[in-house]
Amino acid sequence: MTQKNYDAIIIGAGIIGAAIGYEMAKKGRRSLNIDMLPAAGYGSTSNSCAIIRLYYSTLDGCAMAYDGYNYWKNWQTYLQAPKEEELVKFHECGTLLMKTQQNGGLKKQMAQLDALDISYEHWSVEKIMQRYPFYDMANFHPAKPMNDEDFGKPTGGRVQGAIFCQKGGYISDPQFATRNLQLATERVGGEFLFNSRVAEIPTENGVVQGVVLKDGTRINAPVVINVAGPHSQKTNAMVGAEIDMKITTSALRQEVTHLPAPEGVDYSAFATVVSDSDIAVYSRPEIGSNILIGSEDPECDKHIIVDPDNYDKNFTDQWTVQAMRMGQRIPTLGVSNKPMGCVDLYDVTEDWLPIYDKSCIEGYYMACGSSGNQFKNAAVAAKAMVGLIEHCEAGGDHDNQPFKYQLETVDHKINMGTFSRLREINQDSSFSVLG
Ligand SMILES: Cc1cc2nc3c(=O)[nH]c(=O)nc-3n(C[C@H](O)[C@H](O)[C@H](O)COP(=O)(O)OP(=O)(O)OC[C@H]3O[C@@H](n4cnc5c(N)ncnc54)[C@H](O)[C@@H]3O)c2cc1C
Repeated sequence: MTQKNYDAIIIGAGIIGAAIGYEMAKKGRRSLNIDMLPAAGYGSTSNSCAIIRLYYSTLDGCAMAYDGYNYWKNWQTYLQAPKEEELVKFHECGTLLMKTQQNGGLKKQMAQLDALDISYEHWSVEKIMQRYPFYDMANFHPAKPMNDEDFGKPTGGRVQGAIFCQKGGYISDPQFATRNLQLATERVGGEFLFNSRVAEIPTENGVVQGVVLKDGTRINAPVVINVAGPHSQKTNAMVGAEIDMKITTSALRQEVTHLPAPEGVDYSAFATVVSDSDIAVYSRPEIGSNILIGSEDPECDKHIIVDPDNYDKNFTDQWTVQAMRMGQRIPTLGVSNKPMGCVDLYDVTEDWLPIYDKSCIEGYYMACGSSGNQFKNAAVAAKAMVGLIEHCEAGGDHDNQPFKYQLETVDHKINMGTFSRLREINQDSSFSVLG
């Protein structure tokens, strides 16, 4: 059974998949996003902490995040949305980044921010405590597992201070943001197909032909893009695209802890996003005066790679250890016996940087390996991907002469070879969710 033909099929309708659909459709391409779930953004995007921050450990990473921020800041304009349309809210509470032994006092990150003229303030410990009077600023580094007898004991001295970047915050409803993108895409002619699982990706003489759904429906297109999130490895395996990949992707299980703020504290009224590598967690305000807490992936914690179709969705010790580590900084924090939060998957690469690339199969592309840190970049990643696809479809040899993408709102060109599947592991990375 063959359905219509399209110019491009996008496997996945998460935040990045939907943004690629939007950029394709804006260019007049007949695009189709296919997702096995019932609605846009219902996959890993729905449980994203959706933090928008500008600091990364590489210059390209930082520049992309700055460009990405500008689209969130001007979301209505970016979506070309009518005034009456309800859009997701960008809570621009700013981001506080602790200067710790773990991150070398932030020298690398400050150099990137300076190079891009992104303003930030230096906060002393006293200034941090004016904003967070209930903080204990003792050092706890290095992070330890809960069964270590020294867990939770201060290790001497205090955190050196922090930098505060006003540009940044979070999106409280990442699934709704994706729905905004879906509507924008449909307005410019792009289409979505839900409850439909791609089961095969046929090729002829090394050239992709389209996809075949689980019910046998075949949909043809000369371009197919893998934006399948934690299913990206399975998707690449369907078409044999994994054979030349030096950087690969895997589904990494992650838990996010939500805890009520200490009694009497209206947390969302003043709190910022906080990245605190001394206690190995990041946090942000969450609706209902809760604190959302995620892991900064310290070496002592096990990485659990799973089958994205079959993994444990219950909270484990990861939930508890994150709560206890936050409790080191906020001694008055209560740990609830009714765990709240979520369990989901990162699509992680060896160096925690994404893959935005072509593949060894003609017409088959991938925007995957987002490693828990690419929600913020959805719009810019989509524009860069569409540029890369146009370049390759016009005969460009991206593997040998990498396509360069000029950011639209920041004076910086991204060498897309940085995100190649053929790259060496990028040693500048933080090798964590911080990218
Ligand atoms: C817990 C958590 C916290 C995070 N926090 C942040 C953060 O604070 N800031 C940040 O920038 N990023 C964060 N991220 C990362 C960010 O959320 C992801 O990078 C982003 O959501 C990925 O979007 P996507 O469109 O690539 O993938 P997804 O949202 O995973 O979408 C992929 C879609 O593909 C579909 N699919 C897969 N296989 C098939 C198939 N065979 N057929 C049909 N459909 C298929 C799935 O159903 C899914 O809907 C976080 C991620 C997680 C999990």
